[in-house]
Amino acid sequence: MDDDIPYLLLTPGPLTTTRTVRAAMLQDYCTWDDEYNQRVSDIRQRLVRLAGVDASPDADQYTSVLMQGSGTFVVEATIGSVTPTNGKLLVINNGAYGHRIAQIAARLNICHQVFEVEETRAPNPDQIEQVLQQEGDITHVAMVHCETTTGMLNPAAEVGQLAQRYGKVFVLDAMSSFGGIPLNCRQSGVDYLISSANKCIQGTPGFGFVIADRKQLAASQGSARSLSLDLFAQWQEMEAHAGKWRYTSPTHVVRAFLQALIELDEEGGVAGRYQRYTQNQARLVEHMEALGFETLLPRSLQSPVITSFLFPRDTGFSFVPFYEALKRRRFVIYPGKASQADTFRIGTIGNVFPDDIDQLAIAVGEALQELNLQI
Ligand SMILES: *Cc1c(COP(=O)(O)O)cnc(C)c1O
Repeated sequence: MDDDIPYLLLTPGPLTTTRTVRAAMLQDYCTWDDEYNQRVSDIRQRLVRLAGVDASPDADQYTSVLMQGSGTFVVEATIGSVTPTNGKLLVINNGAYGHRIAQIAARLNICHQVFEVEETRAPNPDQIEQVLQQEGDITHVAMVHCETTTGMLNPAAEVGQLAQRYGKVFVLDAMSSFGGIPLNCRQSGVDYLISSANKCIQGTPGFGFVIADRKQLAASQGSARSLSLDLFAQWQEMEAHAGKWRYTSPTHVVRAFLQALIELDEEGGVAGRYQRYTQNQARLVEHMEALGFETLLPRSLQSPVITSFLFPRDTGFSFVPFYEALKRRRFVIYPGKASQADTFRIGTIGNVFPDDIDQLAIAVGEALQELNLQI
């Protein structure tokens, strides 16, 4: 852990970033300036490359658009911009972020249907196929890749290929996985992939982005239900004016994000980062199980991004004192979000390494002692 940070964030984002990413924000930029907009264009190209879709013969199939706001703003921009008035959206929901997509659709008066799955289960592609067969008027399918609520990794490629086979547009909320878990948009049938600056790319919060199938995005012109969150219009501006955003962009955050993308490359790209996150998560579960904790999900459904742990039974365990005891030891963890069980979460993404996880385990042991908790 760097000495210049007060604590390590073991959360789903914002995350602990590197000193060099933070330092990139120490300069002011003009949004009209060529040098700044060239950096935006560089970012847009790097994002398409990260989606694994720049190799011939489809080098041009995908494009990317950046959008101001937190991740949810970009989900709302996408859902509200790409579902036409006469479209119907199928939302696959097995957690708070799937639920949020359905909320967005409801708020925007988008015709939609929700395929509900228990939080601790993965969506079953066969059942989704039945829905697609029965409900012929569905035009779009939306799902979350890593359901950050529980830490579950949903079967994006299976559902995306299914959507493709049935001629549906597939929207993937890959907010907490993109850049940290390999995914090839083309092979996975993804038409729109949504993520944000402050998750696995390890930038700072302030904007998100969409990697989009160019033909689909071009065809979505005129469908947006919002002026500022119009994905097509933002794309047109960035294309026509070489990287310029429509309205004020978070210049410092954008500059830090480019630095974060360069550092991702230096780590060996998505594959390298995936390996580190996987090691972090395996080490975390090993330590926590040795201390007596149990995970909410079985290993087979678990992502390397974040892990939900059950409150130990009959011990008087409560989150806030545990959180405070860990924070005093320079580790910040996250409350639970599962609706059916008492959990807390520990993230394993960000500028965090297996050695840090070893230190965390020592801190957890001390915190249990301090709080007189015997598990
Ligand atoms: C973080 C996250 C979001 C967006 O959350 P914001 O707080 O708006 O940045 C959306 N979906 C998933 C799966 C996430 O993990």
